[in-house]
Amino acid sequence: MKRGQPALRLKRGREAPHTHPWIFKGDVADVSEVEPGAAVTVIDAASRFVGRGFYNPRPALCCRILTWTDEPLDAAFFRRRVESAVALRSRDNVHGPPTLCRLIWSEADGLPGLVVDRYGPVLVTQCLTLGMARTRPMIIAALAGVFGDAPVFDMDDATSARLEGFSAALGWARGSGPRSVRVTEGGVGFEVTIGVGHKTGLYLDQCENRTRVGALAQGRDVLDAFSYTAGFACHALRGGARRAVCIESSPEAIAGARQNLALNGFEAQAEIRAENAFDELRRLERGGARFGVIVLDPPPFARSRSALDAATRGYKEINLRAMRLLERGGSLLTFSCSHHVSEALFEEICRDAAADAGVRLRVVDRLGQSSDHPVLLSVPETRYLKGLLLEAL
Ligand code: SAH
Repeated sequence: MKRGQPALRLKRGREAPHTHPWIFKGDVADVSEVEPGAAVTVIDAASRFVGRGFYNPRPALCCRILTWTDEPLDAAFFRRRVESAVALRSRDNVHGPPTLCRLIWSEADGLPGLVVDRYGPVLVTQCLTLGMARTRPMIIAALAGVFGDAPVFDMDDATSARLEGFSAALGWARGSGPRSVRVTEGGVGFEVTIGVGHKTGLYLDQCENRTRVGALAQGRDVLDAFSYTAGFACHALRGGARRAVCIESSPEAIAGARQNLALNGFEAQAEIRAENAFDELRRLERGGARFGVIVLDPPPFARSRSALDAATRGYKEINLRAMRLLERGGSLLTFSCSHHVSEALFEEICRDAAADAGVRLRVVDRLGQSSDHPVLLSVPETRYLKGLLLEAL
């Protein structure tokens, strides 16, 4: 360890930070005087080097390790990390990373607290920690090394910013790009208004699952529940679905859904119900509706471990209703993006729902997040999106 650098000493016996980047306040024996958001060298109780990361005394998760090598967190470090994240997305493509993709995904790319997404000509950054927010100029310089003068928009998550104690950026960091961009995903067009909507504009983690739905939808009536901007519905209609019903409660998302359905020429075949999905699923069931493809892609019901029981009930309820609405031979794509709901628990919930619904289903496939959201074996939290593709027997 280099002398004179701010250090964070772990309590005796705290082994997890040797392989997992998260250090909680309860893991810390003492920390030297350091500015919030600055780099610290993490050492164990015997003063041996563990790693280096950004420290913030404010949140319970007070330090995330960026490197387990004794190297400085400087511009060259961030350039190397950005380049290797981009190289991973370029593996199957000589022309570089796809024009619509997640370029950098936090812990999974060795850059905890940073997300960078590519929407055609525009790069969107999202900083989730104070340390990363302070480092943003170096990140933007590193991105310029790869993407030249591509405009960069900053779009931080307000909740994380509040938790970490920095003001959430929303605006152009470099250049001044278009107000909205048109991107394509498997032949479907999406209009993305930069700086508007959830995440950084689209739920990129669902790209590969959305692209799959077209092949299941030929001639079917489709229900896209928790539809956001109608991504699944657009793919289903492109695959030859007869009609699609979207359920979504956010006015902003509904506006995006209308725009996307119109962009692809599907307005006449689609209906958007601006309702609470729980109520609308119940109403559809009462009315005897039937669908050949149903997508359930709700927000994370369990944001904390204490919310797990309520979340389990919520997942069970929507799955039970969807199963009753599903035609024989029809497909249900059902998801959970709650960190605290394991794959095994999610499957158990679906099994309980099927038993109560009196429906037999075949597991056609187990689904997850798109491959530009890589999973680290040592960081199980990187695998957060779980799904099942079920077929009604
Ligand atoms: N499937 C979408 C992403 C869905 S994200 C896609 O591929 O793009 C979950 C969506 O559910 C969000 O748009 C959110 O606004 C919406 N939502 C959350 N709670 C809801 C509720 N109770 N009823 C209807 N929509 C809801």
